Amino acid sequence: MASGTHRSSAWSRLRDHLHTTQLLGGIHSTLYFDQNTAMPAAAGSWRGEQLALLAQQLHERQSSAAYADLLAEAQAELPAEAPPERHHNLRLLQRELRRQSSLDAALVGQLAQAQAEGYGRWQQAKAQADFQLFAPALERLIQLRLEQARQLQPVECQADGAPRSPWEILAQPFEPEISKAQLAQLLLPLGESLPPLLERARSLPPGSTAAWDLGEAQQGQLCDQLLHDWGYDPQRCGKARSPHPFSCTLGPDDFRITTRVVAGQPFSAFLATAHEWGHSLYEQGLPRSGEHWFPWPLGEATSMAVHESQSLFYENRLARSHALAERWYPRFHQALGRDVWGSGQAFWRDLNPIRAGLTRVEADEVSYGLHVLLRYRLELALLEQGMPVAELPEAWNRGMQELLGLRPTNDAEGCLQDVHWSEGLFGYFPSYALGHLISAQLSASLERELGPIEVLLERGEDAQLGQWLRQRVYPLGRSVDAGGLVQRVSGQPLSSAPFLDYLEAKLERLAAG
Ligand SMILES: [Zn+2]
Repeated sequence: MASGTHRSSAWSRLRDHLHTTQLLGGIHSTLYFDQNTAMPAAAGSWRGEQLALLAQQLHERQSSAAYADLLAEAQAELPAEAPPERHHNLRLLQRELRRQSSLDAALVGQLAQAQAEGYGRWQQAKAQADFQLFAPALERLIQLRLEQARQLQPVECQADGAPRSPWEILAQPFEPEISKAQLAQLLLPLGESLPPLLERARSLPPGSTAAWDLGEAQQGQLCDQLLHDWGYDPQRCGKARSPHPFSCTLGPDDFRITTRVVAGQPFSAFLATAHEWGHSLYEQGLPRSGEHWFPWPLGEATSMAVHESQSLFYENRLARSHALAERWYPRFHQALGRDVWGSGQAFWRDLNPIRAGLTRVEADEVSYGLHVLLRYRLELALLEQGMPVAELPEAWNRGMQELLGLRPTNDAEGCLQDVHWSEGLFGYFPSYALGHLISAQLSASLERELGPIEVLLERGEDAQLGQWLRQRVYPLGRSVDAGGLVQRVSGQPLSSAPFLDYLEAKLERLAAG
């Protein structure tokens, strides 16, 4: 026991340190949430300073010499026979510390500056649909990211000591253990299998033929009803509107989600609510009990792709299911005050438009993987195959034509559409596509154990689906990587087959009378 004369154990001092880090992180998230939902516009620059101050303090806490000493002390103190979770937590913390301390301070500063510059140039370039305005900033970001990958090389080797490529190193923080070999198996073949499905979708019958839209209040009520059906607890959760929907965790009992109402897109708020609620339920279900977990890294999300798989499950497998369309058809009919569909089947088709488009964030389940594949190929070309930055717009347009059969008319709807590259975020996109694959494979396991999702939903047993995820998926936290999670839950390595089977079956049912 700690007392006035005895120094407390390094382990408990480490826990206190991490607890304080979590408190600061929660304050940072609270300010961010407010910034995006309630803050008046003129407060922006002060808020920017507040967020920068906290980010800097958080960085210092997690990279200081005192923290490194504390970790070393905790390591020395930890007996070999201590619970394996403690050893695992320490390994994760040490790896993150090595990552932070292997970058030289000059590079960190140059990167921060290049990101701010890149974001500003990108906004300007996108507004004028002129890639040339952004090209020099992108060139600089690529050079700095390659230097970052070089500095991280010794820390980021594979488990067997083999080196990783620059792209792989940059992708590790988003998707631990991701490799080009894995993506060659999972992502590249989608370029062959998805376009024929997209072609088949062209002959699907339409949903409603009448134009319709819903007011903000009605959409808000429908979203509230959806959350109520899915166990939203106002004691622990909060909701708001923001320009871009997101979910965030402000503390162990404080979960927030946002949505937005888009004129002319009456399903947008509803589907975004389902998506963000899936993210939030995952966060709510992460292991938080006992000192082994909160505030330790094992209590964090497995990876970006797993996080996304959980939001996609609620959005695509549940909210866009046939069974829920039958349930929601009368509710939308009532909110609208007239029936523009005539049947639950037509309403369902309206919820599931499948057609090639130029924009990733508006893409359907079939096209989405193709948008990601295009970006992945181009990131490899830019970072590892020496493609000059100046060739990016044409390479993008050619790729779009090849994969989706469409050609952007300008750079704003082409290679300038996403924010990620403006800050030199490379390695992020594949997680989105892997999320679709993981969601499908976990769903197939769930269906083997509980029966078809459509049947469970028809019987109103939505809660049973949530229960399965809470027992099988959420508690794994960072004890595994995404591949390990899928293997553990489904008994098979991650594959694209369940995803393609699911799309085939869905297209068939959408085509049926
Ligand atoms: Zn998401």
